[in-house]
Amino acid sequence: MTETPQPRRARAEIDLGALRANVRTLRARVDPHVQIMAVVKADAYGHGALRCARAAVEAGATWVGTATPQEALALRAAGLLDVRIMCWLWTPGDPWAEGIEAGLDMSVSGLWALTEVVEAARETGRRARIQLKADTGLGRNGCQPADWPELVTEALKAEAQGLVKVTGLWSHFACADEPGHPSIAAQLDVFRTMLDFAEKAGVEPEVRHIANSPATLTLPEAHFDLVRPGIAMYGVSPAPEVGTSAELGLRPVMSLKASVALVKDVPGGHGVSYGHHYVTSGDTTLGLVPLGYADGIPRHASGRGPVLVDGRVRTVAGRVAMDQFVVDLGGDRPAPGTEAVLFGPGDRGEPTAQDWADAADTIAYEIVTRIGARVPRVYLGE
Ligand SMILES: *Cc1c(COP(=O)(O)O)cnc(C)c1O
Repeated sequence: MTETPQPRRARAEIDLGALRANVRTLRARVDPHVQIMAVVKADAYGHGALRCARAAVEAGATWVGTATPQEALALRAAGLLDVRIMCWLWTPGDPWAEGIEAGLDMSVSGLWALTEVVEAARETGRRARIQLKADTGLGRNGCQPADWPELVTEALKAEAQGLVKVTGLWSHFACADEPGHPSIAAQLDVFRTMLDFAEKAGVEPEVRHIANSPATLTLPEAHFDLVRPGIAMYGVSPAPEVGTSAELGLRPVMSLKASVALVKDVPGGHGVSYGHHYVTSGDTTLGLVPLGYADGIPRHASGRGPVLVDGRVRTVAGRVAMDQFVVDLGGDRPAPGTEAVLFGPGDRGEPTAQDWADAADTIAYEIVTRIGARVPRVYLGE
């Protein structure tokens, strides 16, 4: 285990030991034949894609998933070679040929994408690995049931010509984070029907998959051959009603910390930060935390975000600015440089990413994912 480094302005500590443990916990919750795809899109939800992908593979993930082909290609270029990588958010003109050369599994949701990937396969002289995506009810990406027969038929024609191999059939849930939501069973029904059609037509997929984190945790009948956890791998619950991290046996991976930059005495009636939305109620002390919305601290959490400083949880006083915000220390005088913990696992009295999500009317996914590039990531447990 690496020593915790000295505090700087701010840092996001990424506990790779916790990430590995979370992957093992997820592994233990699925049948032994079910593979794990570690979802590391958006720089691993702000945690660092390459290191998180490597840690997940060490802990038993056999696939890695990204949204864009650029994210997937960057992982291959960085040397992540010993694992399948799938990416699903393609835009016309994207680098299909590079994807083929890199051995990516490339999602195809419609005929335009099939046309482009077939063209790239002709150019490169190599067979493309494609996974057909079904829109089973999410209404976002994926092929509608009415268009599925044509997409499957055209993909099989390209497969017969040796241009593609259909390696997967897959879909995505709309409401898996609301256990019992009627759309869940409805989507599973549609998925089974679409799988059945494709398999009867002659597709022999290596993997069929639909489960994100909440479905991995709550819906064994949705596991099929592979599950695609993202947020759970980072130790954050997909939604409070699915359970807390602790209840799910998961440990939050990211801790966001800063060094208090200034502590000072102010009189009562003093306005604090832009707009003076906070005014001190009497003589007090203020602490300056050098993190702001440029670092991903939601401005919407102005007056509400929680921060552990000097043994107590304080509240953001007034507006979150671009680079800094203030907490009212209520007369306490910790030394400048004292650690301020915005969020972490929560077992040392510090707030969690979910607490910040509640303060900012959003979801914990957005809190961790938006932590900005200006905040250095410090890796523990490499
Ligand atoms: C982001 C994403 C996931 C992971 O979702 P979580 O809720 O974080 O587990 C899985 N599949 C697809 C297609 C995604 O876009």
